[in-house]
Amino acid sequence: MPYLELQLAEEKVFKDPVHGYVRVKDQMIWDLIDTKEFQRLRRIRQLGTTSLTFHGAEHSRFNHSLGVYEIVRQVLDKNFAQEFKLDKKERLIALCAALLHDLGHGPFSHAFEKVFGTDHEDFTCEMITGKTEIRDVLARGGEDFPFKVAAIIKKNYPNQTLVKLISSQLDADRMDYLLRDAYYTGVSYGNFDIERILRVIRPSPDDNGVIIKYSGMHAVEDYLMSRYQMYQQVYFHPVSRSGEVLLWKILERANRLYRAGYEFISYPHEIIPFFNQEVTLSEYICLDDTVLTYYFMVWQNETDEILNDLCRRFLNRRLLSYVNYHPSRDAEFYARLKGLFEQADINPTYYLVIDSSSDLPYDLYQPGASSGKMPIQLLMNSGELKELSTESPIVESIGGKIRTDIKLYYPLDFIENGRIAPDIAEEIIKLIYQHELKGK
Ligand code: ZN
Repeated sequence: MPYLELQLAEEKVFKDPVHGYVRVKDQMIWDLIDTKEFQRLRRIRQLGTTSLTFHGAEHSRFNHSLGVYEIVRQVLDKNFAQEFKLDKKERLIALCAALLHDLGHGPFSHAFEKVFGTDHEDFTCEMITGKTEIRDVLARGGEDFPFKVAAIIKKNYPNQTLVKLISSQLDADRMDYLLRDAYYTGVSYGNFDIERILRVIRPSPDDNGVIIKYSGMHAVEDYLMSRYQMYQQVYFHPVSRSGEVLLWKILERANRLYRAGYEFISYPHEIIPFFNQEVTLSEYICLDDTVLTYYFMVWQNETDEILNDLCRRFLNRRLLSYVNYHPSRDAEFYARLKGLFEQADINPTYYLVIDSSSDLPYDLYQPGASSGKMPIQLLMNSGELKELSTESPIVESIGGKIRTDIKLYYPLDFIENGRIAPDIAEEIIKLIYQHELKGK
């Protein structure tokens, strides 16, 4: 029997808190899960520094990836089975893409990409088509098979319904991470009725995406509301972002020290290729949250005071404090504060940091075609298609309204603990106090 059609003698299941069970019957899926590159995802947290705020959020990209696979499997095998005729090969291409869509995430993704300019999607495709155990398994389905899986992730696969199922405004990726992140953070507002959505989701008539039956509109409203709430309350949380700022600054400091010829007591072999911007696939795969955290541990003893302080802060959760910041009206406040920090010998590059939520990899529902994103379409009883926000006042009111939140992060403890001259400390505190009063 060809490998693509090979089934396990008995269905295997993974117990999953979000979907109950993740079910695997295809030999190829089972073999992919068994590769070292997929197992690496156990060591990459899904939500980076969010666990500094919501301590339950320790879940990994491994369980999220299984969840996305399970949603796509249910849609293809149950909900689309009647009207969407896929051959066995194409079904498996879609399932593999769902399972592997986050394969190339690096440790603490966001801060890492910001400092080193890497792109997780590029690495995902490289890991699918390059010299890896993943590619070896996929190639058992034919020479072209890995490239077809990568094409779905790059969104240039011919069947756009399969692409949109994995990446669009209503996709398996978002549906899984919203439910999963809500579950692990313990918040109640991330929940929505996924079972109902999966019952009303259909391939679009022109094979160009997915549509929703009109009767499912309220379930989709609920999904978009929970997406809105999760962004504002969890993903943009200023305390988690304070942890993210520390990560970003640790990596930036280490990078700068390396370039200046600083002699590390604990030489970061695994990170050097990133400092040099020459990273091979196998070097990339070697890096995960645990390796990076190891360096944060040992760098607490480095002689560079900025690096050792930032690492201690991150590991011991001595986060930076913050105030609201409006770029258009707060430039003078920032300039005065920066001047005082310099006088006090606190390096503003690392300790006076502006961070915007719009930098984060999350967005809200965009109804208009101007956003470049395909809107969610409702299939009316008449057979006509209508954009969701034209029918739903709830969606219309929250659509596209991204409230960008910008904060200025600084180390309040440095100012309060006598580390700097009392007259400068007093001036800094006064300045911040006045700024906060103005914002109320
Ligand atoms: Zn994902």
